[in-house]
Amino acid sequence: MARKRTVAFSRNAVNLFFHLLTRCNLNCHHCYINPAQHGNQTLPLETVRRWLAAFQARSHETNLVLLGGEPTLHPDLAPIIHLAREMDFGSVTVDTNGYLFNDILERVTPADLDYLSFSLDGPTPTVNDPLRGQGSFQACVDGIRKAVSRGFTTSLIYTVSRANIDHLDRMGPLLEDLGVERFFIQVIGLRGKSAGPPQALGAGSTGQVSREQWMQVVPRVAERIADAGLTVVYPKVFLAPGEAFACAGRVAENYFVFPNGRVYRCPLCEDYPLHSLVFEDDQLSATPKINEADLFELAIPEGCVMNRLVQPGNIDYGPGGRPLYPIACCLLKEEVRRT
Ligand code: SF4
Ligand code: SF4
Repeated sequence: MARKRTVAFSRNAVNLFFHLLTRCNLNCHHCYINPAQHGNQTLPLETVRRWLAAFQARSHETNLVLLGGEPTLHPDLAPIIHLAREMDFGSVTVDTNGYLFNDILERVTPADLDYLSFSLDGPTPTVNDPLRGQGSFQACVDGIRKAVSRGFTTSLIYTVSRANIDHLDRMGPLLEDLGVERFFIQVIGLRGKSAGPPQALGAGSTGQVSREQWMQVVPRVAERIADAGLTVVYPKVFLAPGEAFACAGRVAENYFVFPNGRVYRCPLCEDYPLHSLVFEDDQLSATPKINEADLFELAIPEGCVMNRLVQPGNIDYGPGGRPLYPIACCLLKEEVRRT
């Protein structure tokens, strides 16, 4: 059987991350959703149709990811998925926290969806629930089992922070047991709630892990889980000194659409009105300078310009004021697969 497609974090990839609403039943400590910047509307089906149509010219190349907030809270998620299929998107994925509202698994079939992608931040309730909410581990695991038993292809997203990096290697057996096919490891970013006062992410910290911790743990765990037959995707975050850097804003196409009409091409600046595109009266147009696209053009020794601006704590400098290593683009990732 042909391998199903989903979001691709590589050069030349085209991904459309479509936030249908910002409302959610959970209140995760690292949630990046920022209603003041992204709106709090639930987009009507007709608006979704018009906005998807603005990206239709190359839809067959585009990986569409429907997300929120919690997208299964959208009463029209099923017709939106069917619409996306009719519009011939290259792949259609739904990102969910696992609660699967509105009987979504009864209203779509595995043929309608390439991937159902779940978010879980620990191998047990003890690790996950302080970060994502009481009962969220069980709800997510139950949701995955139900989806897999009905023939849906599933992936899982794990956001690494100080609070859970020590438990990452215990995810392998759980993922195998659940029948998850792809494992996306992502790094906590300083946006949305993580940019505010720290909560369960580690006392006195933003939750970000050190370069040493990341490099010691993440690539090794990714290899081990790939050995069990999963595809594992993770960001390098920290490049080696002199290692080639590329900005996805220049070498790929990623669009992050929010209910208030803002369309970003880089997720790191989503707390600021730096979006380079906007929907106004359902028409997509470029925003005036200065916006994120101007920043993509800056070549700096730190690598990612947005990291330099919004999370400079990731960067260490040597005695001459030069960064000791560049920061990688969070949209260009490593993929480990054995077959
Ligand atoms: S499930 Fe997602 S949208 Fe909801 S609170 Fe958690 S991170 Fe935010
Ligand atoms: S994360 Fe950095 S490198 Fe990647 S698109 Fe944004 S600005 Fe460019």
